[in-house]
Amino acid sequence: MTRAAAPRPGLREVGPYDSPQIDAAVRLNANECPLPLPEGFSAELAEAIRELPLHRYPDGRQRALREALSARTGHRFDGIWPANGSNEVLTQLLQAYGGTGRRAALFEPTYLLHRRLAWLTGTDVLERRLEAPFLLTDADLAWVQGERPDVVFVCSPNNPTGTAQRRDTIADLAARSEGLVIVDEAYIDFGGESALPLVPDHPNVAIVRTFSKSFALAGARIGYVLASPDVIGDLERVRLPYHLSTLTQAAGVVALRHADEAAGALAAIRTERDRIARELSGVEGLTVHPSAANFVLFEPPGEAGEVWRRLLDRGVLIRDLSAVVPNALRVTAGTTHEVDVFLKALEEVLGG
Ligand code: PMP
Repeated sequence: MTRAAAPRPGLREVGPYDSPQIDAAVRLNANECPLPLPEGFSAELAEAIRELPLHRYPDGRQRALREALSARTGHRFDGIWPANGSNEVLTQLLQAYGGTGRRAALFEPTYLLHRRLAWLTGTDVLERRLEAPFLLTDADLAWVQGERPDVVFVCSPNNPTGTAQRRDTIADLAARSEGLVIVDEAYIDFGGESALPLVPDHPNVAIVRTFSKSFALAGARIGYVLASPDVIGDLERVRLPYHLSTLTQAAGVVALRHADEAAGALAAIRTERDRIARELSGVEGLTVHPSAANFVLFEPPGEAGEVWRRLLDRGVLIRDLSAVVPNALRVTAGTTHEVDVFLKALEEVLGG
């Protein structure tokens, strides 16, 4: 019998990254889209799959999907790069622009994966903490200018606070940054100004988006980056061969045919988000943060972990983010019925 091999140092000090998927009647924990897929999508996808040449490797240049994304976003074909969810896009960006001996700056509280992917790619992290209302200030931009990181993460609207940064602020940041400014716009279809118009004049800006939220396609794993052709060229150097399956590419193309429909359905989610914020702001002792995304962050009166657990007892799963923002919980804007159930359960929990 030989001895087990040792993994890389530090690996066993972290657990696998998962958003806990606990079975609950109402799941408002993962910022998914609660709405059904656009009508006809599944039938069209099934039809498309029937025709696919799956005995061959995928189109490594992902032409059809990139063309469809180009038509939808108005961004140039050679500045577009899709991958398996925006998490893979972010990984590839860090593989290309981060790595050993290089540094990524981020503003806490933000999406936990940014730090995690930096660690995964051996990139050192510089962090700066923002306080409510979580907007970047001149001092924050000066910090970036002084530190000169190789990568800067900005998440707008930010997960988990819901804060949208102004486009002018991102432009200022790009002007003062020597590194690649990655703007994570996973929630942009729910609110906030996109930084996409900056890309032509700021080749150090990369916009990362996903089909997981507004397209209701979290299960399909499709994300993409909109950037300068040079950035895309660098991603081509780190990507795995044929990283995006023919099935995934086809799903993206079919989804984009229904993009108007999917966008039209978002108004209902924004309405639910605003209703949650309004209702919560009337609860004594509760702090609620304004959100441009499809979720709301709040600090309940009493202990957040206890409130989270008692909501779960009532069949409502939300996200406990007290490790990221003291005593904070995040609830995703679901259907009207789901939000009704959440609000009623919260009232019971806080009242009793
Ligand atoms: N960015 C942010 C800010 C997110 O919240 C998420 C999902 N929770 C992602 C990226 C990852 O999305 P995807 O499903 O495209 O990997």
